[in-house]
Amino acid sequence: MFERLGRAAAANKATAEPVNDVGFEAVAFLAEQRLAATPTNYELAYRYRIDRDSALARAVDAVLMAGERLTQITADQIRLAHTQAPGEIDTARQVRHQTLQLADLAAGALATTGQFGRDLSGGLAEIGNGADTVAIVTAMVAYSQTTEAALAAATRQIEALRQEVEAAKGDAARDALTGLHNRRGVEEEIRVLPARGQAALAICDIDFFKSINDRYGHVVGDRVLQLVATSLSKSCDPHLVARWGGEEFIILMNGVTVEEAAELVDRARTDLAGRMVRLRTTDEPMRPITFSAGVSPLHGCKFDEAVTDADQLLYRAKESGRNKVEF
Ligand code: GH3
Ligand code: MG
Ligand code: MG
Repeated sequence: MFERLGRAAAANKATAEPVNDVGFEAVAFLAEQRLAATPTNYELAYRYRIDRDSALARAVDAVLMAGERLTQITADQIRLAHTQAPGEIDTARQVRHQTLQLADLAAGALATTGQFGRDLSGGLAEIGNGADTVAIVTAMVAYSQTTEAALAAATRQIEALRQEVEAAKGDAARDALTGLHNRRGVEEEIRVLPARGQAALAICDIDFFKSINDRYGHVVGDRVLQLVATSLSKSCDPHLVARWGGEEFIILMNGVTVEEAAELVDRARTDLAGRMVRLRTTDEPMRPITFSAGVSPLHGCKFDEAVTDADQLLYRAKESGRNKVEF
């Protein structure tokens, strides 16, 4: 098939019709990846070669960066997740990065006012006697607490907005960046989860992800998210891996005990941490990418409760040093 396509392309090149080299590169790419030369695969390969900085190309690179070959499933996921015209992708990408920056700003402000409130409360005890001072500082503490609450609400709204931006870009149940199910997709899935039998869920949160963004920029951060999505999906196959929010993933595991689930997630953790990841631009190796996770049983309890439990366990994993799985 490839030889035939290659010959046809070569014959074409000899004619007066100018032939796009990208077309040859696309065919070669398909051969390299051992993907069938179907029209949809060709479309993917062509778009990958023509704009190496597009979201689609970055998604492909994230797989290749991890030393993987593109499987048909991943190829389809990536192509479907990036079906807009290039202009739309750019706009959507800009909007997304703006919401991310807003979220970072809000989170930063939140941390600052939180600290401010605690400093004030601490100072209050020492100021002691002057009634006016006490009244003033009490008012300031109250003000800072209100601000903190407002910022926390704003942060939640920004995350909701981010998910809406994602949803507006395509399938509302899928995350456009990674091609995985998003929160809405998960909520649809749990409705069809069998009521009987063992099940567990895990929430995985990438460790120190903000520092990857801070050091290399959001574009590299995005690529790392795509890489984590691919790696988790592979390690946890056939279980459902979805993007739960920013740098958090959720795994729904049917037919396993919580111990088995934790073992599986721990293996996924070592698989990811063991990957050699390099920056595409400079080939510079990056620090290993790790995550912390909480695993809770899903059987016999409600989904929301299981999520809360997994979140608490995740928090414990973070507190006790990260790069670990708690259950
Ligand atoms: P920890 O180990 O405690 O989890 O630290 P962390 O840095 O991973 O956690 P933190 O919550 O401080 O930072 C999460 C960052 O994830 C902040 C936000 O900008 C980033 N983020 C969320 N969604 C995206 C995304 O879609 N793309 C990129 N590039 N960054 C994202
Ligand atoms: Mg997080
Ligand atoms: Mg994190």
